[in-house]
Amino acid sequence: MAATVIDGRAVAQRVRDVVRAGVQEWVRGGGGQPGLATILVGEDPASAVYVAAKQRACAEAGIAGFDHRLPADATQEEVAALIETLNADPAVAGILLQLPTPVPLDGTALTALIDPSKDVDGLTPISAGLLAQGSPGLRPCTPSGVMELLRVHDVVLRGAEAVVVGRSNLVGKPMAALLLAAHATVTLCHSRTADLAAACARADVLVAAAGRPRMIRGEWVKPGAAVIDVGMNRLPEGLVGDVDFEPAARRAALITPVPGGVGPMTIAMLLANTLQAARAQRAAVASAPWT
Ligand code: NAP
Repeated sequence: MAATVIDGRAVAQRVRDVVRAGVQEWVRGGGGQPGLATILVGEDPASAVYVAAKQRACAEAGIAGFDHRLPADATQEEVAALIETLNADPAVAGILLQLPTPVPLDGTALTALIDPSKDVDGLTPISAGLLAQGSPGLRPCTPSGVMELLRVHDVVLRGAEAVVVGRSNLVGKPMAALLLAAHATVTLCHSRTADLAAACARADVLVAAAGRPRMIRGEWVKPGAAVIDVGMNRLPEGLVGDVDFEPAARRAALITPVPGGVGPMTIAMLLANTLQAARAQRAAVASAPWT
């Protein structure tokens, strides 16, 4: 079997087009331009590249970008004060603290300070709790991007065996929760899973998010499976995923490449979350008892 290779760039572009049209409609309707504030602490080159890409994507989508930069020696209190200012700013619909933050800052504690209604990365404890409960809320961008890839490719999730490799708060856990909410039967694997090959071999939908280059071997893939590779591993020969692509593609029905699969979806879903946050904030204000 030769798998269909998912074109993540094309799907992401469609999401971005829908968001741009949604922003235009929102502004025409008097909603005010949605704003996304990014916070970058320090000068890590990879983080700077990510933040710049997010700011560019905002501009293309008609979202106002607020690009906050703090020096690497900024204190926990200084970053916290900026987050509190942005929480209170009505021009800011979404706030993103670029992780990881430099040592000795506590990025998890700082993220938790973001107003959950502006948590466009979906990483605050409130957002994680809402997802765990199956309640509406802002979802982490990479797992939502995976769900969008599965949706546009008509992958049946109801009753499917879904296996997620990796249990981080950023990817693996929210990925498992989203698949569960879509009625898949979910197995969440990690570094202490006893027989990873056997778990993967059961998967109708296999999501790899371990950060281990080509760890998922072709023979572990169930014939006809949908294989989604979240991994991004920089090797001397270039960027590679967690899945050994060629042999896996011979068994899978559907597979994402690296690069050009999941990666482009993350920023697209960030834009979608920012528009969703702007809409929800306005609805919340409109329904507040004192208005
Ligand atoms: P992470 O925080 O390092 O988590 C990795 C997870 O994989 C952990 O739960 C770990 O298990 C598990 N793991 C590690 N080695 C394993 C093994 N040999 N067998 C089974 N499980 C193993 O990484 P992350 O932030 O979730 O990111 C995962 C990958 O996705 C990375 O390559 C990252 O660059 C990529 N990523 C891509 C995007 C994108 O936009 N495409 C976004 C985010 C992340 P334990 O919990 O037991 O340690």
